[in-house]
Amino acid sequence: MSDRYASFVRTGAGRALVKRLGLPDPPRLRRHTPGDPLVPGPVLLGSSTGGRLAEPVGKIFSAAGVELSDPAAASRFAALAYDATGITDSTQLRQLYDFFHPQARAVLPSGRVIVLGTPPQECPTPREATAQRALEGLVRSIGKEFGLGVTAQLVYVTKNADAATRVSLESTLRFLLSGRSAYVSGQVIRVGTGDASAPADWDRPLDGQVVLVTGAARGIGAALARVLARDGAQVVALDIPAAGDALAAVANDIGGTAVQLDLTAPDAPARLADHLGSRHGRVDVVVHNAGITRDKTLGRMDADRWDQVIDVNLSSQERINDVLLERKLIPAGGRIVSVSSIAGIAGNRGQTNYSTSKAGVIGLVDSLAPALHDRGISVNAVAPGFIETRLTARIPLVVREAGRRMNSLAQGGLPVDVAETIGWLAWPASGAVSGNVVRVCGQSLLGA
Ligand code: NAD
Repeated sequence: MSDRYASFVRTGAGRALVKRLGLPDPPRLRRHTPGDPLVPGPVLLGSSTGGRLAEPVGKIFSAAGVELSDPAAASRFAALAYDATGITDSTQLRQLYDFFHPQARAVLPSGRVIVLGTPPQECPTPREATAQRALEGLVRSIGKEFGLGVTAQLVYVTKNADAATRVSLESTLRFLLSGRSAYVSGQVIRVGTGDASAPADWDRPLDGQVVLVTGAARGIGAALARVLARDGAQVVALDIPAAGDALAAVANDIGGTAVQLDLTAPDAPARLADHLGSRHGRVDVVVHNAGITRDKTLGRMDADRWDQVIDVNLSSQERINDVLLERKLIPAGGRIVSVSSIAGIAGNRGQTNYSTSKAGVIGLVDSLAPALHDRGISVNAVAPGFIETRLTARIPLVVREAGRRMNSLAQGGLPVDVAETIGWLAWPASGAVSGNVVRVCGQSLLGA
């Protein structure tokens, strides 16, 4: 699971070789440790003429202890944030160039670029919708261009904002500025309306929340359980009985509880609902992380491989959601977060079953998020790219190296990167972020 190449290029000899041969140069990414400031330096906040978000964002930054500065006082910035909501015509896109061009070399390593816009479908004129849609191209290119672990995102904020919009804009900005979003780049995130409440302490954003994590015995699920517990959640960790020992170790480690259950068993949804109902009376956050692969090209795939993958990765999620929702165990302010994959966006050779299941997860988000909006429950997915786990360690070396390097950050992500992203979507503060699929892939070239 170790990335020997990344370790090598950080040595003196490695650095020299990388420079001489023009090889990929994976930067060391800034990751979150509790108590860290959101950003390790000043932030430059700019606005298009008539932008509606610079003022509220400035207030959020100040409340979060972010130091705002300008080019007269600082030469380098930990983040550039730009309110582009005032751009209503393509001729005004020049304002983006005027802001970003002078700062293109002024962003510190692992810095952040955040552009704020209006969802094109909410724009009153085709011209404005066109200009707002254009922002995506800028952000995705900056993500590919700036290097040094700098990430770039576009945040579309609804014009019909309510109190929840403001709270979730804050949770989103906090996530994006911090080391929690280390491996998220080139993403478009939509902040709408919903049920959101700010935490008493932003360092414990999940305080008191009951969270179910499926597939928690190892890999991404184990990292998830740890991150969510660190952030204050009471974690119910679920995995198959055969993984009982590893599951118990994770649950003990974080003071959570372990549930041994095969999600595909016919009585699994009822047994899980019974357990959550009798132990906790509710489940605030459901994270559908358990997943399997059974790879074969379609012509060589037996029906069992197809059935197992669709059942574990997709149908079991639907059955569990149905029972938990029917029994009203997910309260207002509840969160459902599913794990998809970039294979569900781009497709993958040898993975027709897996890609179908993971694209289905995106369909689940698209259909369930609007249906549950009025119940105050958000539904989102993350789509990981190449993450360093046992699953990816088994990939043949050449394919593995390609997967690792073919992204803007020139390295694989860590399970903790997926966990932090799911954590943000699970926060009570993030309820106005719903119906999103956020890729945690270092802006992978696959599925672009
Ligand atoms: P993993 O195999 O290490 O862990 C998956 C866990 O799910 C295991 O502990 C397994 O026992 C459990 N599980 C499987 N079937 C189950 C069932 N029927 N009932 C209960 N538990 C079950 O995999 P991982 O790499 O940690 O992946 C976690 C999720 O992330 C999966 O949904 C996977 O598809 C997705 N993902 C992973 C990557 C990656 O690069 N590792 C990339 C994209 C998506």
